[in-house]
Amino acid sequence: MMIDSFGRKINYLRISLTDRCNLRCKYCMPGTGVSKFSHDDMLTLEELYTITKAFVELGIDKLRFTGGEPLVRKGIVEFIERVSKLDGIRELTMTTNGILLKKYAKDLKEAGLNRVNISLDTLDGDKYREITRLGNIEDVLEGIEEAKRVGLTPIKINTVLIGGFNDDEIEDLANLTVNEKMDVRFIELMPIGEAATWAEENFLSNDIVLERLEGLVAVPSEDKSSPAVYYKLPNAKGRIGIINPITCKFCADCNRVRLTSKGKLKLCLHSDREIDIRKILLEGGDLKKLILKSIGEKEESHHLEAKLYIKRNMNEIGG
Ligand code: SAM
Ligand code: SF4
Repeated sequence: MMIDSFGRKINYLRISLTDRCNLRCKYCMPGTGVSKFSHDDMLTLEELYTITKAFVELGIDKLRFTGGEPLVRKGIVEFIERVSKLDGIRELTMTTNGILLKKYAKDLKEAGLNRVNISLDTLDGDKYREITRLGNIEDVLEGIEEAKRVGLTPIKINTVLIGGFNDDEIEDLANLTVNEKMDVRFIELMPIGEAATWAEENFLSNDIVLERLEGLVAVPSEDKSSPAVYYKLPNAKGRIGIINPITCKFCADCNRVRLTSKGKLKLCLHSDREIDIRKILLEGGDLKKLILKSIGEKEESHHLEAKLYIKRNMNEIGG
């Protein structure tokens, strides 16, 4: 088990499998996508497996695959199948835009993936195309149905709240939880990367969700390290989650670290500090020793309230 210098148990690794994506969400990526040159420095799946195995042997028991879009990484299903056989894995999850889920959900389930979080900011096809620049909402909706069918559940829908774009859909999105055991989680837009220069009015406090939805009942959290606070609409099967990355701090219960697709370890999402894990691997150094030393240096908390925002775009880190 890994314990950091503030006594926090670190058991959760989020792995960005690629910084590429089949969408170009306006708040996340430039319209031109990512440079082709960056492809060469990506960890190979073999390197990724070696690093993941080391983390699991040190006590990581929960993995989330993210990106960029994890499902555009070639060999992903076989990779997940291999990782799922590692001794000590308790939970394997993925955050995806859902576009390719219709194609891959069954294979992913069979490979050992437990469930998926799917990003969906609007229920309107035209608005979906506008915010993602490339996406067809039907693909995501079919992907959600397929994920349900094969049992990649419970599904969590992640919605980034954007003032003037989807604040008029809070009720409609929330209503998805009424008849289905599915969570809808509203996430405050973070002024990082592409969104760093967005207008003030695009940034909303999640309080607006609580104001708009009538009769919400608080649901006690099952997982103290989760950044989401949960509620339920009256008689709903699923939950409404509120994630306030900026106005709320869950640092004291943080249990996670992140690995970028280029093999950099990020101990805190909101810090620019990165540890080059790939370098030690290529040099044949002691990977586990470096991981343990790094965990011992994990930041106590972020400083978003002081407006110290990271420089990277989200597609490079995985959210
Ligand atoms: N491509 C996958 C997807 O969209 O689910 C996984 C990677 S994406 C970077 C992970 C999450 O980060 C998505 O839910 C996305 O909406 C969110 N995200 C990206 N940029 C953001 C920003 N500036 N503020 C808040 N959330 C952001
Ligand atoms: Fe791609 Fe996800 Fe970023 Fe959208 S949020 S551009 S789907 S990585």
